[in-house]
Amino acid sequence: MPRVKPVTHGDGSPYGVHWDCPGCAAPHVVPTSGPNAWGFNGDMERPTLSPSVLCHPHPALDEHGKRYETPRCHTFIRDGRIEFLADCTHALAGQTVDLPEVP
Ligand SMILES: [Zn+2]
Repeated sequence: MPRVKPVTHGDGSPYGVHWDCPGCAAPHVVPTSGPNAWGFNGDMERPTLSPSVLCHPHPALDEHGKRYETPRCHTFIRDGRIEFLADCTHALAGQTVDLPEVP
């Protein structure tokens, strides 16, 4: 089962990959093509991305339509594992866990 899935532009051309972040309980997306691309090993089951991914807090809506602010989330994704750095503001700060499979 893949742990990241491809994301395309509206016209179907490649954009990047997304994964389900267990720290944020939300998906994250980075570009893997174009001028701001992350390095990606191309392995959907054991992905490695470089450099690290930093998601800044921003307003969002939960599943009930209630506004909340997302956590700060700073991670390395290496070999299908997600390493949460100590500056994350969610419960998985400082931990390394398997990246969840994406159905
Ligand atoms: Zn996250």
